[in-house]
Amino acid sequence: VQVVEISALYRSAALGPPQPDYLNAALLLELRSDPLELLALLGRLEQRHGRLRRERWGPRTLDLDILWIGGSALDSPTLTVPHPRLTERAFALLPLLELVPDAIEPASGRPYTKYLPAVKHQEIERLGEPWN
Ligand code: ATP
Ligand code: CA
Ligand code: CA
Repeated sequence: VQVVEISALYRSAALGPPQPDYLNAALLLELRSDPLELLALLGRLEQRHGRLRRERWGPRTLDLDILWIGGSALDSPTLTVPHPRLTERAFALLPLLELVPDAIEPASGRPYTKYLPAVKHQEIERLGEPWN
């Protein structure tokens, strides 16, 4: 895969059990392999960065998810695309829309911008692009 663009970094309060704030960003990739191979690569990167976690949705050092792949909808035992919780999470929706402002939800044909009002109450801060 090739990295095309990286969104700003966003800080948000964690959901689930009490834990520190999270930092989130989206990467726009040019995918040249099967999405399942990308998922496996993301898993290896998580391991390499010392991912450790005791409980579901508990604190972890790194979480790499596939949010959206163009107009594709995919449902396999290990991979669902778009990410099933994308539309309810400001920390996923905002960075995605920064990279692809006109992204469309494949199943409904709805632009993802339509989901923004529903996540407006979520506490999130755009930190900019600290790597530039
Ligand atoms: P959430 O899915 O709510 O963001 P999570 O990221 O903490 O929670 P994980 O424990 O990291 O959940 O992942 C559980 C499983 O989800 C993974 O083993 C993977 O097979 C599966 N999965 C399904 N769809 C996706 C996707 N789009 N991106 C990443 N993992 C996915
Ligand atoms: Ca996740
Ligand atoms: Ca994950």
